[in-house]
Amino acid sequence: MSRYALVIHGGAGTLLRSAMTAEMEAHYSAALEEALQAGFSFLQQGGCSLDAVKAAVMNLEDCILFNAGRGAVFGADGRQEMDASIMDGKTRMAGAVSAVQHIRNPVELAYTIMQKSPHVMLNGKGAYEFAVAQGLATAPDEYFYSALRYEQWKQLQGSGTAALDHNVKVQDTNALPGTEGRKFGTVGAVAVDVHGNIAAATSTGGMTNKQWGRVGDSPIIGAGTYANNETCAISCTGHGEPFIRAVTAYDVSCLMEYKGLSLQEAMHLVVHDKLLKIDGEGGMIGVDAKGNTAMVFNSEGMYRGMKNSDGEQVVSIYK
Ligand code: ASP
Repeated sequence: MSRYALVIHGGAGTLLRSAMTAEMEAHYSAALEEALQAGFSFLQQGGCSLDAVKAAVMNLEDCILFNAGRGAVFGADGRQEMDASIMDGKTRMAGAVSAVQHIRNPVELAYTIMQKSPHVMLNGKGAYEFAVAQGLATAPDEYFYSALRYEQWKQLQGSGTAALDHNVKVQDTNALPGTEGRKFGTVGAVAVDVHGNIAAATSTGGMTNKQWGRVGDSPIIGAGTYANNETCAISCTGHGEPFIRAVTAYDVSCLMEYKGLSLQEAMHLVVHDKLLKIDGEGGMIGVDAKGNTAMVFNSEGMYRGMKNSDGEQVVSIYK
């Protein structure tokens, strides 16, 4: 029996203590703790890492505080299109979905694509049709709507620029007092189970005011998500374009495989050196098959949490 562990994130970006009320901080911490427990309970019962990351990410998707599932950001056309992916480190099977609307839990769709289709990634309308054929839950626009996200989009509408949800400053919102619109984010989870199998999952609404069907790193296997029992399971968050160009999650795996770096060393090199050189703001969470965990970011903060079978639990937001 090996050490088991779950690590989650709720996005990285300009998260400053000075811009957050104690009440909002308590909300975020409670939400992160709840998601940790949702995934960790699978591991405690001897369940597999794949089920643990799916459960944790579904829990975060259901929480309106984060930019995934319910509470996803708005694109330039006022629509909420979501991306997600999941990967099993034991089999290296993967599933992903991009630019879907009205799917209640995009990570569940990614999982179902992996399990029930011969493909890795489905997109938009076709992905929706597959989800309906598989009996997955759908929901109307109202379910995904949040006043804060809408206000963030209004700040950028017509500007032609897209922004990380955490970095859009909303001057005036009655939706979530005390947040000042600088936080929230993409969600992800990585886990190692009692059998030493690892898995990773990521889910997002992408960037506020994104246009032309823009898709970020989150649904791209090797960029935003990767898992291989021989090396690591990684879920990323941050400015998707540099993360795609750096093949970020896979690069951590490569550094471990070909250079013999530890999980922490590999993640540190990628986040604080390689990504920074190409203006890649953000961070990542990781585990390896031995039960080592790491949470590394180069931004002001990253919503994050870790729980393991040694009884350790961490929930944190700032540097
Ligand atoms: N990486 C995501 C994207 O670029 C955004 C985020 O992590 O918040 O779509």
